[in-house]
Amino acid sequence: MMRSILPTQKIGVIGGGQLGKMLIEAANRMGYLTSVYDPSLTAPAFSVANQYTIGQFDDYEALSQFVSKCDVVTYEFENINAEIVKQLSDKYQNIPQGEFPLWMTQNRMREKEHIVNAGLPVPPIVMVDNLGDEWLELPKKLGFPFVVKTSEGGYDGKGQAVIRSQADLPSKLSALMDCSVIAEAFVDYDFEASIIGVRGQDGDFKTFPIARNQHINNILHISTAHMDEDPKLCKRLHGMLKDLMEKYNIVGILAMEVFVKGDEIYVNELAPRPHNSGHYTMEGCTTSQFEQAIRAVCGLPLGNTTLKQTTTMYNLLGQHIEPLFKYLPSLSADAHLHLYGKKENKFNRKVGHVTFTNNDGMTDFSHAIFTEGQ
Ligand code: AMP
Repeated sequence: MMRSILPTQKIGVIGGGQLGKMLIEAANRMGYLTSVYDPSLTAPAFSVANQYTIGQFDDYEALSQFVSKCDVVTYEFENINAEIVKQLSDKYQNIPQGEFPLWMTQNRMREKEHIVNAGLPVPPIVMVDNLGDEWLELPKKLGFPFVVKTSEGGYDGKGQAVIRSQADLPSKLSALMDCSVIAEAFVDYDFEASIIGVRGQDGDFKTFPIARNQHINNILHISTAHMDEDPKLCKRLHGMLKDLMEKYNIVGILAMEVFVKGDEIYVNELAPRPHNSGHYTMEGCTTSQFEQAIRAVCGLPLGNTTLKQTTTMYNLLGQHIEPLFKYLPSLSADAHLHLYGKKENKFNRKVGHVTFTNNDGMTDFSHAIFTEGQ
């Protein structure tokens, strides 16, 4: 039964990274009390939540205490122990998303199987459990190049290698050798895109305008949502995500990353949380992905997702902060700066983003931060 969680009640977020921080900020703005759970005392979300709890993501007792004190609970990252979330969801009945989206996406093979069972296309894939002679068959099955990914735990290209020739097999695989992996055909895509859907507890479903994404070293660099995006592509991606979320009765937010090649679309990955490629929605759309995710778990009507203007988001990594601060006086009026309050500006780790709601100043910014600033 759907119940509405009204402002002044308490929303708990498991995970206190930047996604948790922006979820909490959206909930605060809507008048909710907020509480966040994270293992690290320096988690970015701790600075904005009304209350915080320090605990490990697999500590049943600590999580149980946390969940029991909230009216509704959501999560901001996928590697939370799914079995514990299931037990707590059954016990307290206040985690509308449940454990299913976590469980489905925590293992790449399981995720791909669910995508295929929902009728969506994925690149050709081979599962490899042990590193016997199975490897010898991969080039025959997939051709070169192909991509090897650890089944569990990878992010931003970690736990991943592109195998371009026979010579790459032993060297590039050595780092991945002690775990189960999947190998998939390399898709020579025209571009990468993503779409974020939110499904309410009453089955209402809305997507955000699609973003076209560019990665550098497998880390998202730029996302742009275009006012003149191909309507056929939008309709197809909307339909695919709707089919998938309805098939598994998924509530809350789900992001879907795809490769587009001509008329073909291949689903690469799903994420059961707000997504980096959806940060543009904060200034680009009427409702942000964070507010929409909060609305869904609180049983409120979903917000309008109209794109107001072509919007581009640039990720800031640790190494970009120094050039950014030099450049700040020149930042154009339509550039919206977000810094997450990470304790350290680590190399290749996301520490903030800048969103442009107008192209003015974008080229100069990009040159100063990402070319000169490298
Ligand atoms: P993932 O961790 O699976 O999201 O992969 C990170 C990035 O690696 C993707 O956004 C792509 O840029 C690239 N990548 C992953 N899988 C493939 C593939 N099968 N073909 C081509 N590029 C890929």
